[in-house]
Amino acid sequence: MKVIFESCSENEAFARTVVAAYITRLNPTLEEMSDVKTAVSEAVTNSIIHGYRCGDGTIEMECNIHNNEIEIIIEDFGAGIEDIEKAMEPLYTTRPEWERSGMGFAFMEAFMDELCVKSEPEKGTKISMKKKIGS
Ligand code: ATP
Ligand code: MG
Repeated sequence: MKVIFESCSENEAFARTVVAAYITRLNPTLEEMSDVKTAVSEAVTNSIIHGYRCGDGTIEMECNIHNNEIEIIIEDFGAGIEDIEKAMEPLYTTRPEWERSGMGFAFMEAFMDELCVKSEPEKGTKISMKKKIGS
């Protein structure tokens, strides 16, 4: 499944709901459903506010199911990340003035089984996450 949508805050809820519908066939528990939706929200919000700095852009989201594992790939073609290791540290944010808490990546790591971040400044950012459902 692949969806391409505009970078705007309304589409964060859209992306979350699309993934929830897609994983329904795996019979997730309410907790698993909530974990996946939170991780998607964090990744899409990051693309909107950091990747495109709340301006125009497109976000691509791809989901695959392999046996009982969901794989979610979220990509933007925006600002990119200079230092990925630092960006992934809990409480690290480049936007304290926007009252961001720097916990987005920490939540994605906590709620999913695997998280992989690829990014290049001025090219964009690609997040891949995996989680086994019902294990
Ligand atoms: P919070 O998610 O708690 O509101 P945050 O977004 O700053 O705060 P993280 O989601 O952990 O925290 O991201 C850490 C930092 O990584 C961000 O401050 C930003 O500099 C960078 N970053 C994350 N995603 C992207 C992206 N898609 N494009 C560019 N920079 C990003
Ligand atoms: Mg964030």
